[in-house]
Amino acid sequence: MPAPLTVAVLPGDHIGPEITRAAVLALEAANETYGLNLRFEEHMVGHASLQAHGTTLTDNVYTAAVEAAGILLGPCDNGGYPAPKDGGINVPGKFRHDLDLYANLRPSRSHRNVPHARPGLDVLIVRENSEGFYPDRNMFEGYGEVMPVEGVAISMRKITAHASNRIARSAFEWARRRRSHVTVVTKKHIFRMTDGLFYNECAKVAAEYPDVRWNSSIVDAFNADIYMNPDRYDVVVMTNLFGDIISNLCSALAGGLGLGGGVNAGVSHAMANASHGSAPDIAGQDKANPISMVISGAMLLGWLGQKYGREDLLATEKAIERAIDRVLESPETRTMDVGGYASCSRSAAAIADAIRQKI
Ligand code: ATP
Repeated sequence: MPAPLTVAVLPGDHIGPEITRAAVLALEAANETYGLNLRFEEHMVGHASLQAHGTTLTDNVYTAAVEAAGILLGPCDNGGYPAPKDGGINVPGKFRHDLDLYANLRPSRSHRNVPHARPGLDVLIVRENSEGFYPDRNMFEGYGEVMPVEGVAISMRKITAHASNRIARSAFEWARRRRSHVTVVTKKHIFRMTDGLFYNECAKVAAEYPDVRWNSSIVDAFNADIYMNPDRYDVVVMTNLFGDIISNLCSALAGGLGLGGGVNAGVSHAMANASHGSAPDIAGQDKANPISMVISGAMLLGWLGQKYGREDLLATEKAIERAIDRVLESPETRTMDVGGYASCSRSAAAIADAIRQKI
């Protein structure tokens, strides 16, 4: 029996608990089927925690999550939380910042039979996660936007050689595990300093990976080309905001936002987190697509497999992907957003069954 690994399960808000339950169901099925010795510890965060404890993230839950081997976090309604002084802590933001989860990895793969999917898409978006335009992630922490005079607002974007270099390295490492190709997406001919710096660091890293082919693309042209020629791309690395936008585009090209999984990875920690939001419009109706969260959970196992050198976890990530492919084949087991008529819980049960059957 391998050494035990604890996964902290934090269900989040709105559809968060429904799709996180689905992910745990899948991971438990994998745990039993492949003898992984995973332990799941569920803790309350978000609105539920705010109501019960006056804060969206208590110190106890924070500590338990940081001490776990990995974190499985459902989508959170950060925009709907009160100010931090009133208990509204940005839950993913707090972990991302404190644990330096600098790489946001978001895969998109089109599946046969899923309506709207662009055939041939199989990409991994590697999104820089620690700086960029985001007001909470630049040198003026919390003050990345200013209004010097009424009617004029300025947004500031921080790009460093250090963060660009390490995200580029992450992209080239991932490319080695995939189809050995990286596309660097920028708008460097306009943002010569910021995107120029990002691009130069990517080019430096590329020189250390002669076995990985790479090219550079301007973000607007890339947007059109990923639709027209999805099969040209493998790993795509970009700065934070571009990565946020383009990963949603890629989820849609794969068939829908409900397929968008992801993991926020650092050196010592990783947090699985769907790439979409908490979807309040469909919450509590058992109709959310659970696949985004199941993919995120599978990626967390893959990350743990790399970290601890555990082949069984790496193989389980692939086994879960095969189970997802199977469930997406039939409208009876797909949810509505991807052209099926299954409920969230029905689709989740079908994924867990497929894992148990070692499909
Ligand atoms: P938030 O405020 O948390 O960002 P949002 O509704 O503004 O939430 P998303 O949660 O990303 O943004 O949702 C965008 C659209 O995609 C919504 O119509 C939502 O119902 C749909 N959607 C998001 N996730 C899923 C899912 N897992 N399954 C089905 N539909 C989804």
